Amino acid sequence: MLYDGHVHLGRKIKSERIEDSNLSLPGYRHLYSNTIESFSKVAKLNRIAKALCFPFPIVEVPVKIHNRYVMQAFRKRNDLVVPLVFPDKLSQIQAFGSSIKGVKEHFYLHNHGITADDQVLEYLQQSEKCLLVHAHRDSWVDYISRVGNRFPNIKIVIAHSARYIPFTGKKAIENCTNLVEIHPKPENLFFDTSTIRDAETILEIINSFGVENVIWGSDYPYENITGEDVYKIELELLQKIGRGNNVFDNLTRLNFKRLFLEEETIREAYPEDRADLQNLLDDMTDQEKTFLALSAKKEIISKSLQSGNHIRVMENNQGCIVGFIRTSDRPGNCALVEEIYVKSSARGHGYAKQLLNSIIQSHSVTSMKTLKSNQKMIRLAEKLSFVPNSNDAKRVIKWDRINIDYDSY
Ligand SMILES: [Zn+2]
Repeated sequence: MLYDGHVHLGRKIKSERIEDSNLSLPGYRHLYSNTIESFSKVAKLNRIAKALCFPFPIVEVPVKIHNRYVMQAFRKRNDLVVPLVFPDKLSQIQAFGSSIKGVKEHFYLHNHGITADDQVLEYLQQSEKCLLVHAHRDSWVDYISRVGNRFPNIKIVIAHSARYIPFTGKKAIENCTNLVEIHPKPENLFFDTSTIRDAETILEIINSFGVENVIWGSDYPYENITGEDVYKIELELLQKIGRGNNVFDNLTRLNFKRLFLEEETIREAYPEDRADLQNLLDDMTDQEKTFLALSAKKEIISKSLQSGNHIRVMENNQGCIVGFIRTSDRPGNCALVEEIYVKSSARGHGYAKQLLNSIIQSHSVTSMKTLKSNQKMIRLAEKLSFVPNSNDAKRVIKWDRINIDYDSY
């Protein structure tokens, strides 16, 4: 299971909307698209549990449209997408609230005057959000020097570790060394490994700037269009650097978690979660098992546990699973909640509410059934605006929760 620190999301843009002179730029080449629907499949296949996602740097498309798409993707897959948005007015950035983890600068936009102003930078510093920038040219080193001196507490992620030419490590060490020297708090600089593709350079970055300040990223779908398997290549490279010495875990998961995620996070379950999930089921009291009708669905549950499909888990900061929600699909983007469960020692933190909310956000309608004797779940359903649709039922209440926001983006 991996956390990817560099992914672009967006719909396909028609080429006639693009300036001819831009069509040959690397970021524009082939006019990439990566919709949340297609990325969900790629992520599952490549065991990507979390991805830092931001738009493609197409300057002809207004920033608001770029940002809206990333937020829409976040709504649909809030367990997968960790959004960064392009710079905009402070009020616009503030409106995203805690959903976004920061702002992504890109030199194509910067050249058109689209950049984080001091108000936005101040906000990033105060709200402990990140700034992601490219820094392969001297002008960017100057920019980061200015930001660093005025807002030293902003955590800055350097895209591609400031390498000069894609798929090489050229100038990466030189540029990063410069940045570390000019920034008053170099511990707030982080370096992503995407599209360096040179094990020696990545190793040198780790050794020079610290294993806790390096983040693995794929830059998916960059160059995927030529048929190359981006994830396979980027991962093989990391494996060369070493699995055993904590480097792999720090780069592919732990550093990402520290930088972008809350203490607890919801993500899709993966087959390696199976033992943890099984333990949760085993620890349930008999009453809890009755509420969940567990004995009747043993086989289905064991299949879901094996595949990880249709299960979202709540993971705490120590990497332990403290709760889960399992759903099944119903036509029309509806989800039926099959089970929701939080470990007894982890109750009282609102985890069940967060798990349920994550499903509500991702679907047009969320349905569930509760026993009339399950007062806790009934209270939770009412709190989250579920409406009972079978009042006359004797033992079981069926609930629906319609999400009017879902399609209105
Ligand atoms: Zn990129």
